[in-house]
Amino acid sequence: MKPKVKRIDMAIHIQEICAKYNLTVRYQTLKDKQPNYYARPATKEIHVRPTKNTGYYVSTLHEIGHILGDYQGAQWGTDYAGLSQDKIILTKEIHAWIYARKNALVWTETAERVMRKAMDSYGWGEIEKKIWKDTTDRCEKLEKVGA
Ligand SMILES: [Zn+2]
Repeated sequence: MKPKVKRIDMAIHIQEICAKYNLTVRYQTLKDKQPNYYARPATKEIHVRPTKNTGYYVSTLHEIGHILGDYQGAQWGTDYAGLSQDKIILTKEIHAWIYARKNALVWTETAERVMRKAMDSYGWGEIEKKIWKDTTDRCEKLEKVGA
């Protein structure tokens, strides 16, 4: 069995990614009751909660995914053509979660619940659910061989 990933490991992981890619992190005070997560790809900034638990950790990775993940912006180029605004948003959201899933040190039931709740709020459809399932299967296979 893999050693348990501690909160400090998750916090350091976030710091390492941000240092490596020169991202600015702004932390929301834990006194705020309402979560307020966002990413500003143009200025490479994320606004997140401190890495206090797995849910906050994967939510932060998701915001980083809006900057470093696939299908997020400029690098998408002309592929935007013909897609509705709703579809563009869903595509960005699922791929930011895929970035989180692929990069997370650990993916727990809490992580999965946070992800599903977020995608539910955007009204994800069969296409996004299929993409997510394929990613999950691939990640689980890699985790099994210890890659
Ligand atoms: Zn998002």
